[in-house]
Amino acid sequence: MKFKIDEELCTGCGVCESVCDEVFEMQDDALAHVIKDPVPADLEDDAISAEETCPTEAISHE
Ligand code: SF4
Repeated sequence: MKFKIDEELCTGCGVCESVCDEVFEMQDDALAHVIKDPVPADLEDDAISAEETCPTEAISHE
């Protein structure tokens, strides 16, 4: 499963990293980035939880 973050929507709040720091990381540009691509099966549930928690719906997966 592949996750992506829409940089136009990400506000840099850090919620995704707090929910699933194995997949989402805040970087120097103050935005979240996907650091596992593709996301391993054992992390998919946590990554989806982060996606659902993002307040701006910036995260999507395919
Ligand atoms: S939760 Fe959403 S808005 Fe907040 S840092 Fe992550 S991707 Fe960006």
